[in-house]
Amino acid sequence: MATTEYDAVVVGAGPNGLVAANLLADAGLDVVVLEAQPEVGGAVRSARDVHPDYEHDTFSSFYPLAAASGAIGGLGLERHGLEWSHAPAVLGHPLPDGSWAMLHRDVDATARSLEALGSGDGDRWRAWVDDWRHVGDAMVDALTTPFPPLRAGARTLWALRSVGGIDYVRRLLEPAAALGSDGFEGPGAGLLIAGNAAHADIPADAAGSGLMGLLMTMLGQTVGFPVPRGGAGRLSAALARRFASLGGDIRTSSRVDRVLLRDGRAVGVRVADGEVVTARRAVVADVVASSLYGGLVSPEDLPARTARAMERFQIDPSTIKVDWALDGPVPWSSPPDAPPGTVHLADSVSEIAEATAQINAHTVPGEPFVLVGQMTTADPTRSPAGTEALWAYAHVPQDVRHDAGGDRITGRWDRDEVERFADRMQRRLEAHAPDLASRIVARRVLGPRELEARDANLVGGAVNGGTSAIHQQLIFRPVPGNGRATTPVPGLFLASASAHPGGGVHGAPGANAARAVLAEPALLRRARPLVARLRRGDVPTLREGAPDDRRLT
Ligand SMILES: Cc1cc2nc3c(=O)[nH]c(=O)nc-3n(C[C@H](O)[C@H](O)[C@H](O)COP(=O)(O)OP(=O)(O)OC[C@H]3O[C@@H](n4cnc5c(N)ncnc54)[C@H](O)[C@@H]3O)c2cc1C
Repeated sequence: MATTEYDAVVVGAGPNGLVAANLLADAGLDVVVLEAQPEVGGAVRSARDVHPDYEHDTFSSFYPLAAASGAIGGLGLERHGLEWSHAPAVLGHPLPDGSWAMLHRDVDATARSLEALGSGDGDRWRAWVDDWRHVGDAMVDALTTPFPPLRAGARTLWALRSVGGIDYVRRLLEPAAALGSDGFEGPGAGLLIAGNAAHADIPADAAGSGLMGLLMTMLGQTVGFPVPRGGAGRLSAALARRFASLGGDIRTSSRVDRVLLRDGRAVGVRVADGEVVTARRAVVADVVASSLYGGLVSPEDLPARTARAMERFQIDPSTIKVDWALDGPVPWSSPPDAPPGTVHLADSVSEIAEATAQINAHTVPGEPFVLVGQMTTADPTRSPAGTEALWAYAHVPQDVRHDAGGDRITGRWDRDEVERFADRMQRRLEAHAPDLASRIVARRVLGPRELEARDANLVGGAVNGGTSAIHQQLIFRPVPGNGRATTPVPGLFLASASAHPGGGVHGAPGANAARAVLAEPALLRRARPLVARLRRGDVPTLREGAPDDRRLT
């Protein structure tokens, strides 16, 4: 079998892998990306597989984090075909009485919506947005640059002085369920913040959820929730096109089944068909940590401490995603003034808190928190004029022990169970749009198995490469360490959402990994194998994990 050689091998063409590949190619490295699926993009893909006239995003859709992040924003993807599109309103949350809490990019419009739900809340919202304008950029930088974020951290501390210092920090530490009632009269701000917090898997009544909720809400307020014109896949296509323009190679349908080590250092990978691709400088893994340390690198090549810590690695909850092709817009019984791209469904903040707590307690929520995307509203090119490419997803436990909905869902997630849960989600929508069923031309439900089959990083339907809970963030991600992209295996770098700062399409783990590769001094690179060899007393071999086939050269 042929052996090919590059400076760097990137495993996985998700957004993080593609960002890393671009930055390494920018630095003049000869790079190949090996992707298991027949197309690039990871969880950033779209297709006409629900209905030929409708472009549906298969997984993710809204990219405020990409718009705000230097890692993706700095690549100039607009020169490679990417165009952003925005819905008339960013986010809407319908209340049981038919009113809506609305988030707009125009702060006055958001303030008017919140004022209608609580006297004085409009001005309170303006004050919160003013505070955010002082600290937001520095905080986003601090959260997305390698740990410890010295420069961005110092900027954040400096900025915090002007918004109340320690009081503001306390606000950020509040659980999302409490944060939005902090000084607000009506339910609007609380619903927006708690709903946005539920995009991650931290229960709305746990510390850390407030920061997540505030971050996403303020990003919606300041940069919106943009979508790529033409489908999520256009973002990945722009990343791939830029990389190819720098001479980079991408090979799809190429699943890597082993990272190859020589003297303890990663020197290449083996593709499932047996081909060996060697890396002169680095192997960069856009791979979920449990798969990287649970097979691609054999446990015996890991320090015992890492292998032990991985036993405690926690994946995030599972997901059920429903896509609908509608022959008209969603028939809301009481439509909002301006149609939002994203819609959150829950009757109250406590209902969001209950649904997120149930997931942590292995219980399938009876009234799940449902996130909805009206994609033709956000981008009219997604389906014929007057129709809607609609989706919704909701989280469910990885390990189901109870069903609070009374359907006796067991967590088998076979076709029957995913369809029954999809019916439960659809009923949540029908509570606000009773005639929805009459508009459905096609419906497709993806459960945990179907999601993972389309992207192996979505283990059991998890969307974020590991829980976002505080015990697995920063220096604890994916296992306690230094919070950086380096791994215990010299020459191997973790670039996926399993690395700090975690899930979402912002490219930060990919950019951090590329930086780490480029920062490794040549002398250290050369010395590491020697150090590893002395430590092990090993003879030099090109090792891979299959016990009877360990010497490849
Ligand atoms: C249903 C859903 C909705 C979401 N919604 C949003 C949203 O609206 N906005 C947002 O910002 N984020 C959203 N996310 C989260 C976001 O998509 C992910 O956090 C992000 O895609 C992670 O990027 P990644 O590059 O780390 O991994 P991925 O995007 O998962 O890509 C990993 C790639 O590696 C490949 N791979 C894995 N193992 C191997 C191997 N052994 N060999 C070769 N290739 C391999 C996979 O096939 C895949 O292509 C959503 C995710 C899901 C699933």
